[in-house]
Amino acid sequence: MTDAGRPDAPKPDPMGGREPRDTRQAGRRTPVPQSFQTRLTISFMAVVALTLVLVAPVVVIRLNDYFRAEEERRLDARANASAQILQQFIVDLAGDKPVVREVDGKLLLNPQVERLLVGGGLQLVADRVAEADVRVVFGVASPDTTGMLVPNPDPALTYTATTQVTPDPGQARDPAIPDANAETGRANAVQDWGMVVTLSDPYTSRASTLAAITGLLMIMAALSLVVSVGVAAFLAHRFTTPLTRLTDASRRLADGDFTSRVATDELSSGTLELRALSTQFNLMAARLEESVEIIRHDRDRSRDFLADVSHELRTPIAAMRTFIELLQGPAARDPAARLEFLESSAVQLDRLDWLAQNLLELSKLDSGLVLLELRPDDVRGTIESAVEQQHDTAERKGIRLSVTLPNRPLRFRHDPPRVGQVVTNLVGNALKFTPRGGEVRVSARAEADGGARIQVVDTGIGITAEELPHIFDRFYRGAQSSEARSSGSGLGLAIVKSIVDMHHGTIAVESRVGVGSRFVVTLPPDPRLVTEVDAPPPDDDASWPGAAVAGPKMDVSSPSAGSPLNHDAAPLSMTAGQTDPDRPTAPEGSSAPR
Ligand code: ADP
Repeated sequence: MTDAGRPDAPKPDPMGGREPRDTRQAGRRTPVPQSFQTRLTISFMAVVALTLVLVAPVVVIRLNDYFRAEEERRLDARANASAQILQQFIVDLAGDKPVVREVDGKLLLNPQVERLLVGGGLQLVADRVAEADVRVVFGVASPDTTGMLVPNPDPALTYTATTQVTPDPGQARDPAIPDANAETGRANAVQDWGMVVTLSDPYTSRASTLAAITGLLMIMAALSLVVSVGVAAFLAHRFTTPLTRLTDASRRLADGDFTSRVATDELSSGTLELRALSTQFNLMAARLEESVEIIRHDRDRSRDFLADVSHELRTPIAAMRTFIELLQGPAARDPAARLEFLESSAVQLDRLDWLAQNLLELSKLDSGLVLLELRPDDVRGTIESAVEQQHDTAERKGIRLSVTLPNRPLRFRHDPPRVGQVVTNLVGNALKFTPRGGEVRVSARAEADGGARIQVVDTGIGITAEELPHIFDRFYRGAQSSEARSSGSGLGLAIVKSIVDMHHGTIAVESRVGVGSRFVVTLPPDPRLVTEVDAPPPDDDASWPGAAVAGPKMDVSSPSAGSPLNHDAAPLSMTAGQTDPDRPTAPEGSSAPR
C-alpha cells in the first residue's frame, strides 16, 4: 500500500509544493524506506537472503544423507572383509578339528582359535581392517532352504575388540552410522560352523566434511549477500537515475523553464520503457515550448498590431478634429476654405473607412473564421475584371495599363473573388507607385503542373533591398516619402499574402529602384492536394524593364540603379506556412479602392 492510500498519509500540496519534501517527512514517521532506490536494494537483498536461507539447509541435509549412505556402504564392505579374513585364519588354524565344541551342553570355542582372537588377532582386524569396534559371535551353522550355511550365533561365544588406531585428521567416531553385520558359514570334516561379525562406531570424516562444507556455504552466503547489496544498489541506482532526471526535468518545466529536457545521452542508460517515457517527455516539452513561443509571439504581435491600429486611426481623426476646429473658427466665414476643409475631411473619412475594411478583413483572417470557396474556374475572367476596375485610375494618372492572357481557358481550382482581390491589390499598388507616363502590365499563363502564374509588372519607383523583406508586414509602408506612399494603409500586401497562402501558392517579388517592380503569384492546380510549397523564383522575363537593364547596362542607369539589384540579390519569395508561420490561413478578400 502506498502512503497516499493510508488515512494519515500527507496530502499533496495543491499549490504545487514539491512532493519529495512531504514524503521525506512521512519517512520520519514510518520505518518503511521511502526512496524507490532503497526499496529496490532492500527487496533485492531480501530475495537473495531468502534464497540462501531456503537453499543452504537443503544442501546440507542432502550432503549429510549422501555421506551417511557412503559410510554405511563402506562399513558393510569392511565388515565383509573382516569376516573373510577371520574365517580364513580360523580355517587354517582349526584344520579338521571342530571350531565350536559342545561340552556339557555348553558351546566352547576351539582353544587355538580363542587364543588367536584374544591374543591380538581380533584387535588387529579391528585396527587395520575394520577401523571400527568389532564383535564376533560364533555358533554352529545349518543350511537354509537354498543350501547356504547360516550361522546360529551363541551369545556365550562373543568376542569383541575396540579399535585403538589413531584416527586420520578430520576423522572421528561416528555413532550415527548403524552397525554393519557380516555372516559366514563354513563346513569342515567334523562340523558346520559359522560366525556373525559386527562392526560399530567406525571412524569417519563425515561430520568434519559436513562442517567444512557448511562453513564454506556460510562464507559464500555472506559473500553473495555482500555482492548482492552492491549489485542491487548499482542496479537500483542505474534504474532510478533516469527517473530522477525525468523528475528534475519536469520540475524545471513546472518552474517555467520550457527549455528543460532529459539529455539524450542519459536516455541510453535507462530501460526501454524509461527511454520511451523520456523521449515522450522531451517531445511533449518541445511541443509545449513551441506552443508557449507561439502564444508569446502572438501576444507581442497583437500588442504591436493594436499599437499600429491606434496610431493609424489617430492620424485621420486628428486631421478631422483640426478641420472641425478651423471650420468653427474663422474658416466658417470663408466659403473657399470651408469647401477645402470639407473635402479634406471627406478624404480622411474615406481613409478611415478603408482602414476599417482592411482591419475587419485581417481580423477575420486571424480568427480563421473564413474558408476559401474553391471551385474549378477560368481565372482569365477574374483577372480581366480586376484590371478593368482600375482602368479609370490608370487613365487619370496617365499610365498604360495592359493585360495579356492566354487564348485557352486557364482553369484550375481557386476562389475567384479572392484571387481577384490579389490582382486588384497588386495592380492598385503598381498604379500607385508608377509615375505618369509609366506602364503596368498584367499577364497570366498556365503552369506545367496545371496551376497558374499571374504576373504584375510596373515601371514604377521600385523598392529598395532593405524594404523588400518587409513589404508583406502589416502596416508596413515604404520609407521613401511620397504622396503615393503616405496614402496607403500598409495592409494591402498582407492581405494578398494571406490569400495566396490560403491557396497554398507562392508570391515572389523582384524590384529595382527607379526602374520598376515585378510581382509573381503562383497558384497550384488544386490547393487541397498541396502539402508542401516550394516557392519557384520568378523566371526571367524580358518584358520586365528591370531584366533589360541587368548586367553591363547597369552603369548607365540612375545612381540608385547602380546599387546591387534586388533582382541580383536573392529575390524575396514568401511561401504560405514556411517563411511566415504566423500568417493566418483563412482569408477573405476585400476591394482596395485608392
Ligand atoms: P500600401 O497600402 O501602403 O500600399 P501595401 O501593403 O500594399 O500597403 O504595400 C506595402 C509597401 O510596399 C508600400 O508602402 C510600398 O512601399 C511597397 N510597395 C508595394 N507595391 C509596390 C510597387 N508596385 N512599387 C513600389 N513599392 C511597392
